[in-house]
Amino acid sequence: MPGARLIILGRQGAGKGTQCVRLSRHFVVPHISTGDMLRSAVRERTPLGIVAGEIMDAGGLVDDETMVGIVKERLAKPDAMSRGYILDGFPRTVGQAEALAGITEDLPIHVVIDLDVPREIVVDRISSRRVCQDCGTNYTSSGDDPSPWICDVCGGDVTQRGDDTPEAVNRRLDLYESQTAPLIEFYGGRGQLAVVNGVGHPDHVFKRLTDVVESRR
Ligand code: AMP
Repeated sequence: MPGARLIILGRQGAGKGTQCVRLSRHFVVPHISTGDMLRSAVRERTPLGIVAGEIMDAGGLVDDETMVGIVKERLAKPDAMSRGYILDGFPRTVGQAEALAGITEDLPIHVVIDLDVPREIVVDRISSRRVCQDCGTNYTSSGDDPSPWICDVCGGDVTQRGDDTPEAVNRRLDLYESQTAPLIEFYGGRGQLAVVNGVGHPDHVFKRLTDVVESRR
């Protein structure tokens, strides 16, 4: 049966993005990534993009009010209303989670999954991450690749994200511990949380994720 309303939490670089794309195909629901929405605003140089771009490059967080506004508007669209969604990268603070609880009062989230990968592992993964500028496909660099290289999927330029430098990565992970990790307690206390081990072959992690969703929706 298609359809589900999910939140996927986890450190950046935990493989969240790739798993969310697979989950969105599997459950036939839109993948709503606030990071992707902001990156597209940056590319289009909208007023939001101009402000957000600087914050993102420094590894900071865009303010709650702006983020809640963007997500509220997206969740009101017909696809999300009828089929559900996978929220990736939102909420990132308890303030955002509280606002989201209000927005989803009538159609509550089925399950909040914490995709758990230890910090040391994600630092390694993020520093070798490369992303297609056009279609967003993720790649892993072996260290001696051309820059940019050409995307196998769409022919776009594959480069390192501006916010994947070691300084920005460490800042994001610190922010995760201080701002986002409290969400685990927030959702745990509401009985909505499931912790899934994110270490291992991506196919095994995917199976763990779909098993949890099937058991909760
Ligand atoms: P991501 O692709 O999820 O790693 O997001 C990239 C960057 O976008 C983050 O490091 C933040 O600067 C910003 N961002 C994405 N989602 C949020 C959010 N929910 N709240 C605040 N900032 C966000």
